[in-house]
Amino acid sequence: MSLIQVSNLAVQFSRRKVLKNINLTLEKGSVTAIVGPSGSGKTTLLRTMNLLQLPSEGTVTVAGVTVDAKHISKTDVHKIRNQSTMVFQQFNLFKNMTALENVMSPLIYNKLAGFDEVKSTALGVLRNFGLESIADQYPVTLSGGQSQRVSIARAIVAKPKVVLFDEPTSALDPEMVSDVLTTIAQLAQQHITMVIVTHEIEFARQIADNVIFVENGEILAQGPANQILSTDGTGRIADFVNSLE
Ligand code: ADP
Repeated sequence: MSLIQVSNLAVQFSRRKVLKNINLTLEKGSVTAIVGPSGSGKTTLLRTMNLLQLPSEGTVTVAGVTVDAKHISKTDVHKIRNQSTMVFQQFNLFKNMTALENVMSPLIYNKLAGFDEVKSTALGVLRNFGLESIADQYPVTLSGGQSQRVSIARAIVAKPKVVLFDEPTSALDPEMVSDVLTTIAQLAQQHITMVIVTHEIEFARQIADNVIFVENGEILAQGPANQILSTDGTGRIADFVNSLE
């Protein structure tokens, strides 16, 4: 069953089209990696999937709600935004809240349960991530890897339909990368629908069902990870993959 569908999408900033002719379908429960050179439009594509970035042409459908660039409905934009959460490069934790309060915040904001239940749900997610011992610490005292894992806990706690990751490991020291990738792989095993912009090619090979390769604002190829990310081939994508390995 498809969860996200993007049809004939273009995004224009000033007079420049940074995305064009974008068509894709993502299945419920699938993991999709978006790869490609810097500046090719990967983050912009990710942001259109929850309409943080509005399209200038085409349509975006998430869980049965469609937003058409020709007549954008604010209500439908909000419906789509509420279906997904985003994990950013720079974590974006609330600095005045502890790790636990950060993870509790989406449940409290959405009034999804009483305080005690919210607290125990959030603690449960931190425990699953092996982060219980830092529950009462403020972000300033956490390492980059811990901060990113808390932000992932916050992103999944309210069970969104899709989690969007924008280069989740690119701001981390190298020794912290694998902890964060392990946490994301843990979620993949639970069949949480995820889209991940990443330069971690080996990781994408291991966890992604599909890979979308973006260059100059267009999808150059999409398909199964082992096919798209093969190092054996020739041509633009193989060159790119080999350059990162
Ligand atoms: P990537 O994630 O592949 O590095 P981006 O999606 O961030 O690429 O950017 C694609 C292009 O769009 C780049 O040339 C970037 O400078 C431009 N761009 C991104 N966001 C904006 C914006 N808000 N206003 C104008 N140009 C932007």
